[in-house]
Amino acid sequence: MVTVIDSLPPVTLPVKGTCDVFPVHRIYCVGRNYAAHAIEMGFDPDKEPPFFFQKNPDNLLVGQDFPYPPASSDVHFEFELAVALKSGGTDIPVDDALAHVFGYACALDMTRRDLQGEAKKAGRPWEVGKAFEHSAPAGALVPVTEIGHPTSGAIRLEVNGERRQDGDLDQMIWKVPEIISYLSGLFALQGGDIILTGTPAGVGPVARGDALHGTIEGVGELALNVV
Ligand code: MN
Repeated sequence: MVTVIDSLPPVTLPVKGTCDVFPVHRIYCVGRNYAAHAIEMGFDPDKEPPFFFQKNPDNLLVGQDFPYPPASSDVHFEFELAVALKSGGTDIPVDDALAHVFGYACALDMTRRDLQGEAKKAGRPWEVGKAFEHSAPAGALVPVTEIGHPTSGAIRLEVNGERRQDGDLDQMIWKVPEIISYLSGLFALQGGDIILTGTPAGVGPVARGDALHGTIEGVGELALNVV
């Protein structure tokens, strides 16, 4: 058998403090999972079922330079906790969900807000706003064996030294085990899946030359330059 075009190398994330890498299968993202962010986007934060969208695995950016994407003049940062699954399944009970987690990382859900807004208005899919090249900058994964399962702790983002997002992991409307359980009722989750768990309030636009620095207490940090 011949592979008829050149195949791409697998997408991986580094594992902090090691030479190991984590092979990425899919990327799921949770929408509006912090009440204050739901309000700033014009929605009622009352607990409705979680909703999801996807990015492509090769949208991950490992590295410090985020190229400002084409076709937008309103690219926003959304700083988020990423969860990496080591195993999966369907209909995973909430109580078993954390047993599937390999580790956690800091990540950004970069968003072409103008294109997302047009898509929302027209009732169209969100991919043009969410799933573009380099739209998922991520730091190294920190294994559960190192940090356990963070359920509270500050999640903060500074832009050019000015604090723009300041939340706490305990403000998530849907908690990590609930997210995994709910997702596994919709999709057959697999080891290698990454879940971005939503962003706290304070999202806003970036410009070329901006320096972003995010920290999640107990997880780590992520630095990014917009180029
Ligand atoms: Mn997001």
